[in-house]
Amino acid sequence: MEKNATTIPLTTDLSNKKPTVCIFGTGDFGRSLGNKMMQCGYSIVFGSRSGHASGLIPKGAAVLPHAEAAETSNIIILAVHRIHYSFLEDLKEVLHGKVLVDVSNNLKINQYPESNAEYLAQLLPGSKVVKAFNTVSAWALQSGALDASRQVFVCGNDSKSKEKVMDIIRSLGLTPLDKGSLLAAKEIENYPLQLFPMWRYSIYFALGLSAFFFLYCLIRDVIYSYVEKKKDISFRIAVSIPNKVCPVVALILLALVYLPGIFAAILQLYRGTKYSRFPDWLDQWMLCRKQLGLVALAFAFLHVLYTLIIPIRYYVRWRIGAYILEQAFNNKTDPFINSSGWIHDSYLSCGILGFFFFLLLGITSLPSVSNNVNWREFRFVQSYLGYLTLVLCTAHTLLYGSRRFLNAGTYPWFLPAVYILSLIIPCIVLVMKFVLVFPCLDRPLTAIRQGWERKSKSSNNRCGSSV
Ligand code: NAP
Repeated sequence: MEKNATTIPLTTDLSNKKPTVCIFGTGDFGRSLGNKMMQCGYSIVFGSRSGHASGLIPKGAAVLPHAEAAETSNIIILAVHRIHYSFLEDLKEVLHGKVLVDVSNNLKINQYPESNAEYLAQLLPGSKVVKAFNTVSAWALQSGALDASRQVFVCGNDSKSKEKVMDIIRSLGLTPLDKGSLLAAKEIENYPLQLFPMWRYSIYFALGLSAFFFLYCLIRDVIYSYVEKKKDISFRIAVSIPNKVCPVVALILLALVYLPGIFAAILQLYRGTKYSRFPDWLDQWMLCRKQLGLVALAFAFLHVLYTLIIPIRYYVRWRIGAYILEQAFNNKTDPFINSSGWIHDSYLSCGILGFFFFLLLGITSLPSVSNNVNWREFRFVQSYLGYLTLVLCTAHTLLYGSRRFLNAGTYPWFLPAVYILSLIIPCIVLVMKFVLVFPCLDRPLTAIRQGWERKSKSSNNRCGSSV
């Protein structure tokens, strides 16, 4: 059988020399990982069915039949799909006592009853199976674009084998994260198959809210006008209605970022401890606050874009022209009202500042920024600036309504305008937060969050009876 001409180095590492590593499988992942490892100083021997090198194999790597390749190294990386693992049964002896790295993924979440790594450990009980590398893509290894997947999850039952694999991961410039025993392999294998797990609820909720408010505006503005006034203003569907829906959704989502914190504070005060679990719904809600905030920022950004195009809209230009002509024909001008100037300028200013702080919040939530600030700085931005943003955006909406709140004409078919509806949750959040900063509530809450527990009568009784 033809063998690759490259000399195969020894398996042990002498001084700085990295050990030889064997990779089973010369497919996309095996080749990319082999190439990357060779760049980092490892000698690579591929185990392949063909047993000889093709043009695609990285230069300098050896290619041997599986059994011979396995003899060259104590670490074998298995870059083969699970369905082909049966060929390993013939190699039981040669793989005995060796570290076998399972990199495989499946096509579906929980596709098999046991994880691929556990299946491999059952097939080869004499080998030390370690799960790793499955969250790194062949493309990222090849292109060097590893920033997004720098973290490599590792698990296995033999800690020495796990340590050896983690050393390889570190030497490739990646960060190993020990997830424990092989039982964790299922979770690690499911990880790359999840589709925006943390984003799902936020996006569904934002889409649901948008659909609701869009329909609401359609009925309240367009259909009402058509039915009651025989006026077709359906053109508003393109810009006016989206520009009402976007800020409303953004404000509600921003308030929903802070509402679970309020619920958590109330629960902690009520229970007198921070050591009991929140209900699952609250836990889930707390976990997706960052995503809710970022989706809210996206809607706020759309609102800014829609607002910037207002002066170039055909309808707006037509209305301004008609208004000027009407004033010219009637030979009259509206007087300047100072209070209106104040309200309008304050409304714009709150909007601009609110959006600025909103952007700042979004930027500080990026891992590259949040990793560079300490916990106190992060808390300052996300909590204090977050509430300031909510106050500014709520004030922006309140000033938008200003004198229109009590005008009966703003309630067609008894339906309040969407901006009024959008104020309900933010106002509840701000009022509750205001109440929670009173010393009589803030002091016990701070103490609870620092570990203090209020002893309930029943627990006192229990303690008393046990003494
Ligand atoms: P691939 O391109 O299809 O390569 C798989 C390799 O397995 C083949 O090149 C072949 O190598 C070997 N093979 C095929 N049939 C075999 C059989 N019947 N018996 C023994 N060996 C056989 O797949 P891949 O993309 O490299 O993926 C390999 C493993 O890495 C999979 O488990 C995958 O889930 C995992 N993974 C892939 C990526 C990725 O980005 N591609 C990322 C993470 C994890 P020889 O011809 O040399 O024998």
